[in-house]
Amino acid sequence: MTPRESISVFDIFKIGVGPSSSHTLGPWKAALLFIDWLRQKHSLNEVSYAQVLLYGSLAKTGKGHGTDIAVQLGLCGEHPETFNVESISPRINEIKTNKKLLLAGSYEINFNPEKDIIFLKNESLSFHPNGLTFRVSLQNGQKYEQTYFSVGGGFVVKENNEGGNPKAAISLQFPIDKADDLLHWCRKTGLSIAEIVMENENCWREEEETKRGVMRIWQTMRECMYRGCNKGGELPGGLHVTRRAAALNKKLLKGRTYADDNSWIEAIRAGGSDFAYILDWVSCFALGVNEENASFGRVVTAPTNGAAGVIPAVLQYYIVFLNGDKDEQIINFLLTASEIGCIFKKGATLSAAMGGCQAEIGVSSAMAAAGLTECLGGTQRQALMAAEIAMEHHLGLTCDPVAGLVQIPCIERNTMGAVKAITASQLAIQSNPDLAKVSLDTVVKTMWDTALDMNTKYKETADGGLAVHIPVNLSEC
Ligand code: SF4
Repeated sequence: MTPRESISVFDIFKIGVGPSSSHTLGPWKAALLFIDWLRQKHSLNEVSYAQVLLYGSLAKTGKGHGTDIAVQLGLCGEHPETFNVESISPRINEIKTNKKLLLAGSYEINFNPEKDIIFLKNESLSFHPNGLTFRVSLQNGQKYEQTYFSVGGGFVVKENNEGGNPKAAISLQFPIDKADDLLHWCRKTGLSIAEIVMENENCWREEEETKRGVMRIWQTMRECMYRGCNKGGELPGGLHVTRRAAALNKKLLKGRTYADDNSWIEAIRAGGSDFAYILDWVSCFALGVNEENASFGRVVTAPTNGAAGVIPAVLQYYIVFLNGDKDEQIINFLLTASEIGCIFKKGATLSAAMGGCQAEIGVSSAMAAAGLTECLGGTQRQALMAAEIAMEHHLGLTCDPVAGLVQIPCIERNTMGAVKAITASQLAIQSNPDLAKVSLDTVVKTMWDTALDMNTKYKETADGGLAVHIPVNLSEC
């Protein structure tokens, strides 16, 4: 029997750097994998020269998405989870000026980013549009190359999937490919979705470790949101987009002050619970995260970077306005959301280069809807129904980032995903799942079929939609 792919909550939620999980985090991780592979074959001090070839969507929108920056930092052996984001510009400028790169942080090689990172805009590899090849020459003249694919949400596979994800070999207590499998285990055991997910996570590590890890994910999301909601100015990239979260934060608080993110929550609560007030806050939370993402800030893929604001915005809404600030509830929210992300990854895609924005904002909205429903006391079927409703109303959503930057429409789109998630959750809680005509598995399949039918220009190429209808005159900030 072929073992099923096993995906952990920490594969879905990964701490990294903006602006894109498939175009920044994935290529960065691919560069690190390449360094590891090379180290096993040769001593790195034998390398004299390196080159990176970017194909398809990585070539078309890689500049705006920071792919060139990511591969350089990866080749330097830096890790996206820990690298100080304030050091990104100085390090990249240093490489550009000196035309030298410190391979794995130790071995200096000649590297001119303008020449040695090649954007092959008219070439695409058949396995996936996000392909990249690393080439090196050794001092003795031998040449080696390896190709990787960034398949969405920061997941990376090597060409021919050699040495794939070692986690995939683990047999989980409750194997799940589809929503129906998940429901089967919930019915059979009487466990909630979050409990089923936790039992599966226990196959990898102790429960306490999982809980600590999930809270660390939330802490990173929360810090990102707080930074984003307190930082004004303009986003990088040359589009001259003004950051809006900080101004909205200030306006909504009407002079109420705070010293940190805990007292910030109290200041927000003091403003009441008017519908428009809450709606504005949900938008503010989502804008804050994605403005940080667009500024190469530290973010968590949820399930991607472009859609990183939806889940934090909905969870923060639950914490602030529904008094959901208990660790157990936060963990349940994120575990439930992660399983929905896994189901979409297995049955469809998390990659905008494969499925357009329905694969990013649509999936994140479905994840948030299920997490919120679980926390609000909905049944397992209502949680799945909420995920279905949220995706149903994102089907066909295209990816058309203006100038290839993760800014327009991406940042606002997170506010839409968050609000739809809350609406979907409320609708599901008020509904009888027995009367539902569309199952989550049906909507996953529909999303995938829609992805296959979608014109390539709407798949993270910046060749269609808003990307061609907004006049752009990029200038360096
Ligand atoms: S349009 Fe959607 S899928 Fe495309 S880059 Fe923006 S957020 Fe990602």
